[in-house]
Amino acid sequence: MDATYLQRFLSDSARTATRSEIRELLKVIARPEIISLAGGLPSPETFPADDLAEIVPGVLREHTAAAMQYGPTEGDQELKEQIIRMMIDFEGEAFAELTPDHLLITSASQQALDLCSRIFIGTYDSVVVGLPSYLGALGAFTACGAKLSGVPIDDDGMCTDLLEQRLVDLRREGVHPKLIYAVPDFGNPSGVTMSLTRREELLCIAREFDLLVIEDSPYRQLRYVGETLPTLGSLDRDGRVVSIFTFSKILFPGLRLGWVVANPEVISHLVVAKQPVDCCTAGLSQVVAREYMKTGKLPAQIERTRKIYASKREVMLEALEEKMDPSWGVNWTRPEGGLFLWVELPRWMSARKLLERALAEEKVAFVVGDAFHCDRSGKNTLRLNFSYPSEERLRAAVAGLARCIEREIDERASGEEATTGETESAPALLVNGEHALVQLSWNLALSEVVE
Ligand code: PMP
Repeated sequence: MDATYLQRFLSDSARTATRSEIRELLKVIARPEIISLAGGLPSPETFPADDLAEIVPGVLREHTAAAMQYGPTEGDQELKEQIIRMMIDFEGEAFAELTPDHLLITSASQQALDLCSRIFIGTYDSVVVGLPSYLGALGAFTACGAKLSGVPIDDDGMCTDLLEQRLVDLRREGVHPKLIYAVPDFGNPSGVTMSLTRREELLCIAREFDLLVIEDSPYRQLRYVGETLPTLGSLDRDGRVVSIFTFSKILFPGLRLGWVVANPEVISHLVVAKQPVDCCTAGLSQVVAREYMKTGKLPAQIERTRKIYASKREVMLEALEEKMDPSWGVNWTRPEGGLFLWVELPRWMSARKLLERALAEEKVAFVVGDAFHCDRSGKNTLRLNFSYPSEERLRAAVAGLARCIEREIDERASGEEATTGETESAPALLVNGEHALVQLSWNLALSEVVE
């Protein structure tokens, strides 16, 4: 059966999720000679391979059934208990009342986002997201037919005054969003942490407008400076927050293990939605994680990971400080944790044009910021990852990027055209029907390597 014939059998979303130009660009990014600040990959030096090599044979011999058999959709009970213990140790008393019924084990946080979309979002349901937001969440919401409404994020997280105004405006148009999606700790892509005041205001607004909140916090344990702030879930008084966590960044993403903390009513709907997707999360992963946690080595593993990333973050910030001339008008965030920082170029400068130049002239890759904006704004922004490249490659990449920015500025000063040449433009607005599907295909293509 050839590709054209196959088309008639495909669903609308599969039919439109075709190869796009951006995939060709992503193939270039994957070449070894390119220094990629584009992905969101953890550094392999953080993977606890030796510790796991000691545990896995025992798991297979002594926990054969739990590791190899189908298990409950809710997840392994002992793993849930270990997670609760870990959360109480890390978060304190705020989680003292957590029980296994408040937890669902998932195939990492991406599945949790998908399941939440399945139970909460129907075609044309309105969802509020940050400008910018994690691409994988935008993809999961859009796949269920969501209409996305973007609210700007500043140095303190989602701008709650603009959020309130947006909700008033939408209400006037007869639109009642169901959900707010937020990454309060060291957001992907912004690197920004939501302040305590904003967290409280966001919850007040959610109550006033009767919205649920999805708190996605994969980087929470990876804080390098400053004090830990309470999760939205722990500040929530009426069970409207669904919190999503993962082992991907504190152990390794190949484990594909995460967990949802929510009101037991929500958990039971998520369980029903999960059953036809995968029956249960992989038993082998769950038992390996739980036996690893029982050794008591996880806190030291997190500490070791934090040290590695804190140092890489420092290297990237120092390189930016050293290489970016203040007269250029380039600004960047100073993330307190996580894997990314966010750069704002002068308003006239196209991040896409800069990417083409950086790939061709300096072999440096990054992700253009408009990819993370549901309204396609942010054309002069970009995301840089600092967790994966070595410190030496981070320095070289920032130096190359700075040379490209300088060349853009020089060309503009000498009157050459500087801001054309976008490689691919997605539709201007995320709306229903065709546009949403084209957008979905674009997001899927990008999220293959963006993480
Ligand atoms: N949410 C956010 C904000 C992310 O950045 C990522 C990926 N890095 C995920 C969810 C998905 O991660 P995973 O499925 O590996 O837990």
